[in-house]
This record gives sequence, structure tokens and C-alpha cells, in this order.
Amino acid sequence: MGLDLPASFWDGIARAWTVPLLVPTIPKSSHASFVEVKGRLASSINVRAIEQNRFVIKPIGLNNRVDWCRDFEPLLCVYDEKRQAFRANSVASDEQKAALRVPAFIQDEEIPVCCEKPMYFVGQIDDNRICAEPPPEFKYWWHDAASFYVFTCSVCMECKAVGQQF
Ligand SMILES: [Zn+2]
Repeated sequence: MGLDLPASFWDGIARAWTVPLLVPTIPKSSHASFVEVKGRLASSINVRAIEQNRFVIKPIGLNNRVDWCRDFEPLLCVYDEKRQAFRANSVASDEQKAALRVPAFIQDEEIPVCCEKPMYFVGQIDDNRICAEPPPEFKYWWHDAASFYVFTCSVCMECKAVGQQF
């Protein structure tokens, strides 16, 4: 069941601070009752994700109303056109998060904005040796366990990077 929604709809989803999310009381069940919450989109909106109808969303406001997931836990979701909301199916595995391009932040989520839109996540560098040798004039430098996150703008193609460390 492919989604047939215009690009402007997905642009609105990518710009939204939160999206409507339905969390079933039993995972992977379409017959269970749903808890209606808000969610933060964690994966990329791209043509493949839309074609596969697979997104990763972090719920906000569950407050332990279901027993299989918690607030801010990344959930594998589909967009349900009939209900006009995303519907959670399961807790997203590490493989699913990688395939759907969810940045693995080591500190708080930090997504730069460009053209009034959260930037599109390109990928991350977790190589602990890449910044290991400081330049001679250094006062502060990265610890050995640092990650760098690369983003681009889907409107103007500007690129930005974010660095985080433990
Ligand atoms: Zn831009």
C-alpha cells in the first residue's frame, strides 16, 4: 500500500515540530486500541521512506499508558492516511534506525535549521581517531570519543556539521 500524498504534505511533516502519533496498546496490532499522542520525527523524509512507508518517531506524552514502549523511545511507524496520523508498530531496532537514517546523538538531539526547516541528516562520523591529534595552538580540543553529524538543506543544499562528545 503505497502512499499517494503530495510533496507539499511531506514538506509540512518535515517542518512540523511534532506530528500526530497513534500508539497501540499491543505492538504490531491493528485491532488494539490506540493512545493518541504527539511525536517527534527522528528519521528522514525521503522518497524511499515514503515508498516503503517506514518512519521512526519518538512519542511525547505517553506517560506509561502502554507497557511496551516509553516516551522518547524510537518507534517504527507507518503513516495511516485514513486516520491522518502516524501509527507505531514496534520499537525500532538499531538496524532499522540505521536504514532509516536516524542520527545516534551521544548528547541531546541537535538538528540545525536552514531555510526555516530542520536540515536533512546525511550521516555521522564516529571514528574515534579522526580528531585525536590536536593542532599545536590548541586550548580546547575534542575528547577521543566524539561524533560528528553532517546535515544538508533540502531547499538550498547548504551543509552544516554538529559535533558532540561524552
Ligand atoms: Zn537552506
